[in-house]
Amino acid sequence: MKKITILVPAYNEEEVLEQFYARVSSIMNKIKEYKFELLFINDGSRDKTLDIIKSLKEKDKRVNFIDLSRNYGKEIAMSAGFDHVKGDAVVIMDADLQDPPELIPQMIEEWENDHDDVYAKRVSRKGETWLKKMTSYLFYRVLEKVSRVPIQKDTGDFRLLSKKALKSLIQLRESQRYTKGLFSLIGHKKKAIEYERDPRAAGETKWNYFKLFDLAIEGITSFTVAPLRIASILGILISIVSFIYMLKIVFTTIISGNEVPGYPSLMSVTLFIGGVQLLGLGVIGEYLGRVFSETKKRPLYFINEYSGEENE
Ligand code: UDP
Ligand code: MG
Repeated sequence: MKKITILVPAYNEEEVLEQFYARVSSIMNKIKEYKFELLFINDGSRDKTLDIIKSLKEKDKRVNFIDLSRNYGKEIAMSAGFDHVKGDAVVIMDADLQDPPELIPQMIEEWENDHDDVYAKRVSRKGETWLKKMTSYLFYRVLEKVSRVPIQKDTGDFRLLSKKALKSLIQLRESQRYTKGLFSLIGHKKKAIEYERDPRAAGETKWNYFKLFDLAIEGITSFTVAPLRIASILGILISIVSFIYMLKIVFTTIISGNEVPGYPSLMSVTLFIGGVQLLGLGVIGEYLGRVFSETKKRPLYFINEYSGEENE
């Protein structure tokens, strides 16, 4: 019998976990043709999340958990999960029930139809502000344009991966992870399933605009060097314009004598060029910082406790 692992990163989710378990387990009970593992990753929660997971494990042998040594963020929590998947396929789900578990049977079906990455594509997002919808809409489109890998639009992390896709993903050990891009990067056979995204069942979102901005920068810098190129192109353009302007000054000086009142133009050009230089430096810095953290080759995460047996 094939086994399917449901991987759930959880950070301060005490309010929804019971409800989550109830809904997911009723789906797992309905699907009789497969065995299930429900693998929770406790991402350094400061509330009772871990206790609740442990009590679920006592009730239900299908539950396993990894307790990470601190809060690492969802991306790393997922990769800790990937390393410990025991099933023949893995379904990644948020703990807040925004990803309807009712889609799982359909995902399994597509997986049996020989797809390696069955991802859930949102057709609507309930309970999210228009600003969030709008920014995420724009972000995906911009990223698509500037990077060479096709990015699936309006898609979260909710998906089923085959063992093959999982093995590919595990080989990508970068510490600055933009998992949505990595799913595209590995390729394999993809299939979209459409669904309506529900609002959070309880608790609060851990995302704020600062974090989202961070993720956006991550997405761009880990998938394309286009900003570096934009900086160079801007540099070249400004050099050309400045050169022409310089010629103009030289000629007017030769023709109509020395022109002293040039302070405003001088000042504005100096400030402008200074700004552009700082921008260019900032862009280089973003990439350099990433090179710095990747070259340290630190392990992605440390584990306090794992309830199952380590993979060989
Ligand atoms: N999460 C996590 N570590 C974090 C932040 C979030 O493991 O540092 C988990 C969280 O418990 C949830 C999922 O990632 O299962 C998505 O988080 P959230 O619902 O806050 O994000 P949103 O759905 O608003 O994008
Ligand atoms: Mg959520």
